Amino acid sequence: MNYVFAPDVPVTLPVSGSSALYPVHRIYCVGRNYAAYAVEMGHDPDKEPPFFFQKNPDNLLVEGVDFPYPAQTSDVHHEIELAVALKSGGRDIAISQALDCVYGYAVSLDMTRRDLQGQMKKLGRPWEIGKAFEHSAPCSKLIPAEVSGHPVQGEIWLKINGDVRQSGDLNQMIWKIPEMIATLSTLFTLQAGDVILTGTPAGVGPVQRDDRLHGHIEGIGTLRVNIA
Ligand code: MN
Repeated sequence: MNYVFAPDVPVTLPVSGSSALYPVHRIYCVGRNYAAYAVEMGHDPDKEPPFFFQKNPDNLLVEGVDFPYPAQTSDVHHEIELAVALKSGGRDIAISQALDCVYGYAVSLDMTRRDLQGQMKKLGRPWEIGKAFEHSAPCSKLIPAEVSGHPVQGEIWLKINGDVRQSGDLNQMIWKIPEMIATLSTLFTLQAGDVILTGTPAGVGPVQRDDRLHGHIEGIGTLRVNIA
């Protein structure tokens, strides 16, 4: 192939117990998928259903690399989230078929420039500058679903410097994993390599330089990230 310049190598995630890499296509994120978090952010979860936004594949930060405190912000927040990685996709996927599309799961962080997101919300403008910046999606190794099973409950928590900041249970998700995949597939054509960040429980807050973040999802794994 004759390119104008050399294309980037594909973004990949490592897989637990395997040397094979998972190539990433898109990153979808679900907003306000835990009722307690929606209330915390000033919304009524009974009136406003969850919604979607995207990050860029190259916003992923694999474990072992520090998260560099980003530019143009003084209020970067952590959001611990279960990541769902697809091995197949399509459009208008039935809820009953949705889990067949899942390759595996991971522990991820939806890092957010909350101050910039807040300004954009106020102005009715898109959120990208708050959400889709470099390194904004730290992610653990994937665990294949054939190993973990498909989680419907289990603790999800985040500690900073040893103190618990976020704590919840996967059973508190408003849209369950099959509903999320089915709903997303009515809006976009899903495909292998798509990763869905499934929303965060209550307790989000700012991180500071030199903080040590330690996230955990029962049955899925752990994620450790340092803020540099
Ligand atoms: Mn989030």
